[in-house]
Amino acid sequence: MIPISVVKLDEAAERLAVEVIRSGVLAQGPMVARLEREFADLVGVEHAVAVNNGTTALVAALQALDLEPGDEVVTSPFTFVATLNAILEAGATARFADIREEDFCVDPQALAAAVGPRTKVLMPVHLYGQPADMDAIVPLAQQHDLAIVEDTAQSLGATISGRGAGSFGLGTFSLYATKNLTTGEGGMITTNDDALADKLRVLRNQGMRARYQYEMAGHNYRLTDLQAALGIPQLAAYGDNVKRRKDNAARLSAGLADVPGLRLPTELPGRSHVWHQYTLLVTDEAPVDRDEVISRLSAAGVGCGIYYPKTVYDYECYRDHPRVIADPAPVTERVVRQCVSIPVHHHLTDSQVDQVIEAVRKAVAA
Ligand SMILES: *Cc1c(COP(=O)(O)O)cnc(C)c1O
Repeated sequence: MIPISVVKLDEAAERLAVEVIRSGVLAQGPMVARLEREFADLVGVEHAVAVNNGTTALVAALQALDLEPGDEVVTSPFTFVATLNAILEAGATARFADIREEDFCVDPQALAAAVGPRTKVLMPVHLYGQPADMDAIVPLAQQHDLAIVEDTAQSLGATISGRGAGSFGLGTFSLYATKNLTTGEGGMITTNDDALADKLRVLRNQGMRARYQYEMAGHNYRLTDLQAALGIPQLAAYGDNVKRRKDNAARLSAGLADVPGLRLPTELPGRSHVWHQYTLLVTDEAPVDRDEVISRLSAAGVGCGIYYPKTVYDYECYRDHPRVIADPAPVTERVVRQCVSIPVHHHLTDSQVDQVIEAVRKAVAA
């Protein structure tokens, strides 16, 4: 069996975890501070604020922007449910701009069309490891005086015109077990804005500036030193791991280029892709449909996943929600029927990648 993701930490992580256990500081302490510093360097920002998961990172980022009831956040309808849940948790109204098939991220034109008098935040999702078209999104935000919150959960280290994903406003990251860099559970918020970074640090710690000095109604969003210890060695290895993912993606693309009925993912000009997922579309020209491809791949021992099987708001619990506005998303509605992700992670060997290629070629044949 070749799994879609593998969680494997090295001895350096073990050593640091033991150091934390022996130190007696298990909650937020010096390891979190070190993770934050090194994380900020990787993204290319002034500040990184660690929190306990990626959903919290989104919620805290929105809370820091002081949204009021009726304020709208426009995001992608093709995302993990956390993106939507965070908007609702923050008390805002969720709106959606359809994606482009080229990068699976929000279409800047659809985003512009979704901006209205109540819009306060643009929230692009950098999906699968490739960033959204920030060269078009940033001017749009400036033109309408909107904040940018980038859901960068899947795209740590990706760049747009040389700038790090997560550096254009508030960037939010997940360090969940299957993400490119993991602390089991964990999250991070990045920014170059000193005031917002300061506010987020106070917010995550019960709104407390110094002991019993409360400045706002906050929360406990803190990450632990034990978790941070697991992440620190992965930051040092991150460039090598992404290189391995890029090589695996290139090998997959070369091996699948001539298969009719498949649309392969590409790294778009000016953007770097960190290959969190390698996601194919099984188009209507293919002799079999996506679900048949998946059952054949599973039978052949190749792990695969559907990220995501439905438009994010297309569930009963959001249907009559007063703060979920289901703007139409025809591209997303097609892509959710056609997408399948296959293994690309950095623990794969060349021969495993070749096995994946063979299995996909057979699975898509008549
Ligand atoms: C993983 C993920 C999140 C949420 O992160 P958690 O750490 O699981 O809370 C949010 N958005 C996207 C796009 C994700 O992939």
